[in-house]
Amino acid sequence: MADVYDSEVYNFSPGPAAIPKAVLEKAQAELLDFRGMGISVMEISHRSPEYLEIANQATQDVRELLQVPDNYRILFGHGGASLQFSMVPLNLAGRTTNLAGRTTNLAGRSSNVDVRPEFDYANTGIWSKKAIEEAKRFGEVNVVADASVSQFTEIPASEQWQANPKAAYLHFTPNETIQGLEFHNLPVLSAYPEGTPLVADMSSTLFSRPIDVSQYGIIYAGAQKNIGPSGFSLMIVRDDLLDCALPETPKLLQYKTYADNDSMFNTPNTFAWYMAGLVFQWLKEQGGVAAMAQVNQRKANKLYAFIDGHDFYRNPVAKHCRSWMNIPFILSNEEKDADFLSESRQAGLLFLKGHRMVGGMRASLYNAVPEEAVDALIDFMSDFANRHG
Ligand code: PMP
Repeated sequence: MADVYDSEVYNFSPGPAAIPKAVLEKAQAELLDFRGMGISVMEISHRSPEYLEIANQATQDVRELLQVPDNYRILFGHGGASLQFSMVPLNLAGRTTNLAGRTTNLAGRSSNVDVRPEFDYANTGIWSKKAIEEAKRFGEVNVVADASVSQFTEIPASEQWQANPKAAYLHFTPNETIQGLEFHNLPVLSAYPEGTPLVADMSSTLFSRPIDVSQYGIIYAGAQKNIGPSGFSLMIVRDDLLDCALPETPKLLQYKTYADNDSMFNTPNTFAWYMAGLVFQWLKEQGGVAAMAQVNQRKANKLYAFIDGHDFYRNPVAKHCRSWMNIPFILSNEEKDADFLSESRQAGLLFLKGHRMVGGMRASLYNAVPEEAVDALIDFMSDFANRHG
């Protein structure tokens, strides 16, 4: 394997994913001697002035990059995106149903709470489904739209979603990392009372393009795609949603705890936060998310155009729902999958295997994947099809 990694390689991993080389080099240069202290950033207190400077700068950079309005808090947390699958219902359950002061429902005993909170979820893929399953533990879930009817190749038009106006929030997944399905427009919220929060799992799309944060109640993302190392998360929470958690919500799972303590109620993952900060600085140097979006759109368009123009490859997703970040494709002859994977790896094109639940191939084109990587992939795919097609 060493020969592969020693040469020029491109990393198409879906996550943990490519980190910009310049960021890794900076981290390497500072690793043994962080800013003249003679020790590494991992060895200093999260409450030291040196670390607080990094943490505050990263927060400020997120605000600048995404133009986050003042009435939103930017929080850094634990547990990746999956912990948000629990935190969202726990923190918002008290919103409309007035459950915030209720008596705790003791496990296994008959409950003295007859009102279950209600939540709306769109099911557009495997990650939506996981969020839905977790939310069911805390309330009644109404699935407003279900893309399984098209085998997850098309997102049902949001005008036709079956909204429950009593829902505490509407949750959706703007980009489904596994199926490669992306919303290119916001869902229409006209069926809900004003203020009903739209909650978005942006794990695989945040920072890939500009967004209008004011349209959302909560945005969250696991860090390991466009932000930094895994196990870490970014949350952007509207002020009025910070304090409506169910009373039994563990303190470390309450958004308010993060907001009241500048995300340092307990020791944060200081190294991940530091790395995320370097990525945000790199993003600013690239011209921010608008500049990133142009490159990302170009990269995705190129690969889709190649796939659509070639009989040997196919992407099943409806054109208006295709992801910029994750492009799944299948070979016309499945028996060639193993050859495709081993030959692409030999050519320095890493991690093109599709998710085990859907099979085939997938190229993830996050911010840190340069346009040359897509060109190299297309050259390889063309050559492979000529030899095996
Ligand atoms: N949501 C989406 C859209 C994802 O892509 C992923 C990870 N691939 C997750 C949630 C889960 O993230 P984590 O492993 O950080 O919990």
